[in-house]
Amino acid sequence: MAENMIALETARSIVLEHVEPTEVETVEAWRAVGLPLAEDAVTDIDLSPFANSAMDGYAVRSADLAGAGPESPVALEVIGHEAAGHVFSETVGAGQAVRIMTGAPVPAGADAVVKYEIVEVEGGDGNEGSRAVFRAPAPAGDNVRAAGLEAHAGEAVMRAGEVVSAAGAGLLASAGCSTVAVRRAPRVGIISLGTEIVSPDTVPAFGQIRDANASALMASALAAGAEPRFLGIAPDDEESICKLVLEAVASCDFVITSGGASAGDYDYVGALVRREGEMLFDRISLRPGKAITFGMLRGVPFLGLSGNPAAAYVGFEMLARPAIRAMRGYSDLARPVQMVRVEHDVPKRQERRFYNRARVERDEATGELAVREAHSQNSALLGTLHHANCLLMVPEGLTGYTAGDEVPCVRIDIDEGTVL
Ligand code: AMP
Ligand code: MG
Repeated sequence: MAENMIALETARSIVLEHVEPTEVETVEAWRAVGLPLAEDAVTDIDLSPFANSAMDGYAVRSADLAGAGPESPVALEVIGHEAAGHVFSETVGAGQAVRIMTGAPVPAGADAVVKYEIVEVEGGDGNEGSRAVFRAPAPAGDNVRAAGLEAHAGEAVMRAGEVVSAAGAGLLASAGCSTVAVRRAPRVGIISLGTEIVSPDTVPAFGQIRDANASALMASALAAGAEPRFLGIAPDDEESICKLVLEAVASCDFVITSGGASAGDYDYVGALVRREGEMLFDRISLRPGKAITFGMLRGVPFLGLSGNPAAAYVGFEMLARPAIRAMRGYSDLARPVQMVRVEHDVPKRQERRFYNRARVERDEATGELAVREAHSQNSALLGTLHHANCLLMVPEGLTGYTAGDEVPCVRIDIDEGTVL
């Protein structure tokens, strides 16, 4: 590896060593969807709190129906009913049954429920005063959901670190956890560097470029779980850059710049970090985006990405996204990697690690997954990235792949977990 160039994994560990989880805050349970809990969520009651019916039907004593059969029907006296908000509070005695709705508490004395469809009703409408006739036994526990099936009072229904799903928000509500503890979204400051860069709401003059990176990085930061803040564009002069970046570290938990990093130009960003803070690395074995600066400025992690839109995107994905997720308390920091057969040769001419924009798709004819390379790997093209759903990885030490190889694809369209 070239001098000063460190492996991506080393760079990622350095970044992760320099971020800390944000403080814990309390939010409504449903707002925690997609977030990891910061503390165990404990139920204050049994779930469910009482044994209840899994069917609309009749609550019975299984012993009463032991002898019931097609030729030996058993008739029970219906002594009451259970409906929403109407609880039958007496005890079911021998020869008696209670009309019951799904989810209603199984009354004392009864130990099974027989579904309505297989019960014949005599002498009434099926409620009090009628007789219910059964032609099959009902084993104890039949169609009864036991109390505490899901959890007992005092038990955790969700552990710290577990990511809340939509169904999970419902479970938390059942457990009385209408609010839960999560980590606050880290404030991530985004700055664009370059004398040629202009705001997207202006029409660029000849030689000017609209600021695409700020929007892409703000969106990436938001999707990663941060609260992004755009802090402006600074021209390529040391004083303006220094002023904006130092303002940013005063108000943010993590600061990201793009631009001002290409080899050949004066390295304003590197100079700033060396002068005002601690430089931790400035070259990574990575393409696109080898010129990535990371350091600490006034105690705040600072990441300087190259200006090429694809380089900025890949640099964010590989370093900033895991850092933001660590700050938010996720244990799974990386995107899933999937092995997929590549349809074309993928040459690599440099020793550096490559991440090629590509798409994993199911081949209509064979039904198998295939990875197709994007038409262009030109790092100025954001459209290519917009259509990509993966970054096809070619590691150091390989000169590329040949069509038919199984290759690792980082699924940039999936937040975490395993691709099935
Ligand atoms: P630099 O890292 O400043 O050398 O930038 C590399 C390339 O990316 C140049 O062509 C820049 O014009 C372009 N670039 C830099 N910043 C941005 C930005 N914020 N939006 C779009 N393109 C950019
Ligand atoms: Mg520049």
